[in-house]
Amino acid sequence: MAWFAGVEAGGTKFNCIVASDPKNIVNEIRIPTTTPEETLPKVIQFFQETEISKGIKLSSIGLGFFGPICLDKSQEHYGWITSTPKLAWRNTPVVSYFQEKMDLPVSFDTDVAAAALGEGKWGNARNCRDFIYLTVGTGIGGGIISDGHPLHGMIHPEVGHMLIPHDRIKDPFDGVCPSHKDCLEGLASGPSIKARWGQPAETLSPDHPAWSIESDYLAYALANMTLSYSPQRIILGGGVMKIPGLLETIQKKLVQFLGGYVQSDLIINHTEDFIQLPGLGDRAGVLGAIALAQTNS
Ligand code: ZN
Repeated sequence: MAWFAGVEAGGTKFNCIVASDPKNIVNEIRIPTTTPEETLPKVIQFFQETEISKGIKLSSIGLGFFGPICLDKSQEHYGWITSTPKLAWRNTPVVSYFQEKMDLPVSFDTDVAAAALGEGKWGNARNCRDFIYLTVGTGIGGGIISDGHPLHGMIHPEVGHMLIPHDRIKDPFDGVCPSHKDCLEGLASGPSIKARWGQPAETLSPDHPAWSIESDYLAYALANMTLSYSPQRIILGGGVMKIPGLLETIQKKLVQFLGGYVQSDLIINHTEDFIQLPGLGDRAGVLGAIALAQTNS
């Protein structure tokens, strides 16, 4: 069996895993995200010690990182974390570090693109060539898979910061995004819900007015992504999506907002197939890093 190293690098922790697929996992660890000097050597140490203790040889490594990151191989900054608000990580060359320390092929992408690949390989987007993974939690981000591959383009999509209708009579809240205030993330992320209502999202009852506002914003975002990318499926992950009933409300509003314009049987009659929760649950990101590693093997 071939073994792969995966890293899901987030703002608070690095989830590291050695696996072949979701059923064959050799070792896992969580390492706090502090500084590159402190965190990265611990990741390398975990992989090297796992190879020795388990008597295996790793084939390649997949890195799903918080961004923004440089994915353009023609640029000298390829493989770097670039303009991140996490100052200690700004301009950190990640890919070259792992190549030097591990001497393995390294695949690098955003955390959400990795999660999307995981859902495409083992989760609820199997058999789709064009689909989206959107996470709604501490932040909002999306991985767009186009013809089986993560869409990069100029930098990489940042759908969490798309601008959406903001009815200030229904929702006078200004929004929390440091760059845009009332972009999607500014209005619909976990921190924005907490700031608007003065209590964390998970403590609001399912019939709280928060969820009518939240489902509006997420359905607007899904309508925009449906119209822009023409996906065969959209997977909605992240902590906020665990609120009972939220998924179903979003599905209904999406059909309503599209107004019958996109004449697809999938959207109109099978919205529950078109918009789904992740098959891999909270493990989409870390298992997605394994799927990402396998693109290079
Ligand atoms: Zn924003």
